[in-house]
Amino acid sequence: MNIEMTDQKAKVNLLGMPRHTLLNFFESIGEKPFRAKQVMQWIHQYGVHDFDEMSNISKVLRSKLKKISVISGPEIIYQDVSSDGTRKWVMKLPGGSSVETVLIPEGNRGTLCISSQVGCTLDCRFCSTGKQGFNRNLSSAEIVGQIWNALASFEDIDRVNDRPITNVVFMGMGEPLFNFDNVMDAISIMMDDFAYSISKKRLTISTAGVVPAIDRLGEFTDASIAVSLHAPNDELRNELVPLNKKYPIKMLLSSVKQYLAQLSDKRKATIEYILIAGKNDRKNHADELIELLRDLPCKINLIPFNPFPGSGYKKPSNSEVKRFQDWLIYAGYITTVRTTRGDDIDAACGQLVGQVEDRTRRNERYIKLHEQGSVS
Ligand code: SAH
Repeated sequence: MNIEMTDQKAKVNLLGMPRHTLLNFFESIGEKPFRAKQVMQWIHQYGVHDFDEMSNISKVLRSKLKKISVISGPEIIYQDVSSDGTRKWVMKLPGGSSVETVLIPEGNRGTLCISSQVGCTLDCRFCSTGKQGFNRNLSSAEIVGQIWNALASFEDIDRVNDRPITNVVFMGMGEPLFNFDNVMDAISIMMDDFAYSISKKRLTISTAGVVPAIDRLGEFTDASIAVSLHAPNDELRNELVPLNKKYPIKMLLSSVKQYLAQLSDKRKATIEYILIAGKNDRKNHADELIELLRDLPCKINLIPFNPFPGSGYKKPSNSEVKRFQDWLIYAGYITTVRTTRGDDIDAACGQLVGQVEDRTRRNERYIKLHEQGSVS
């Protein structure tokens, strides 16, 4: 049983427990299994962290639970909302580090971009998160805590029916497949009908390509998968994504193909491809990519590189992006371009960092928005 101990000695944290673990937990304390579903609903659907609010649970059981367990997530220390509606939260973790979580609203859809690690070990050349180094893996409570907290910050909503969060992507900080067990537990909670009911098509694990983990992914989940490819050949990918030296492209794509093949529906992988001016955005790169992806059920998402100080790379112009997209579309691939969102609050891809630096200027703006009533 994977029961997380908290710093409050010997108390277990129920926030990060998937249903099967909660069932074991209630069984181990001599309680009926249906308590697991009730408690899950209180925690995740009603956002409760105080056992006394759980009105369909007897006082005796509530005080028993208080003695042995807690419901504890990361603490929101900062939030901001972009002029385009993108929201960003900085959440503090026990031990002092912090992670960032972003919500991107688009019509009926709300996509929450969550982190799985503090920092990252991958050191991809184009990513500022990698430049921060690696601190540690997040626990399942800290991963689920990001959606739990994000929902709690919408005050006047019906958490079950209004659904400001319909999609979850593991595209914040970290490599989710290097934190396998905790990410699997968190996913199981997010997809659970007694918690957030995120559908398998709307929950996407984004990976730089940890092949052994992709090979066993199907035993644990049927979530969707995105691959951060970024280059059409090993030579270039070795430079951009150093993990490629260990798990080269052919090996990676064949592992992804096998994962898709054992799903019960016909799902496509998302191939993420950052476009860096002059580096991987030329006709020869498009041609190589077109050949490479021939046998893989996939759609392609192009991400214009977001520059950051010292990266040494440039963003292509809009017409260069469009040109690359057209080459792929002409070859028959569904190809979208990710528009940059939340740029003004540093919430765009590759801009998420784990430390809280001087945010005075943005804090002032946040307070201003708050006064105008545009932040709940
Ligand atoms: N480790 C996982 C998830 C984190 S990266 C992975 O590699 O998929 C999340 C996404 O942000 C990836 O597609 C990544 O390539 C992209 N990204 C990182 N830095 C970026 C930058 N400077 N500009 C645009 N996209 C970036």
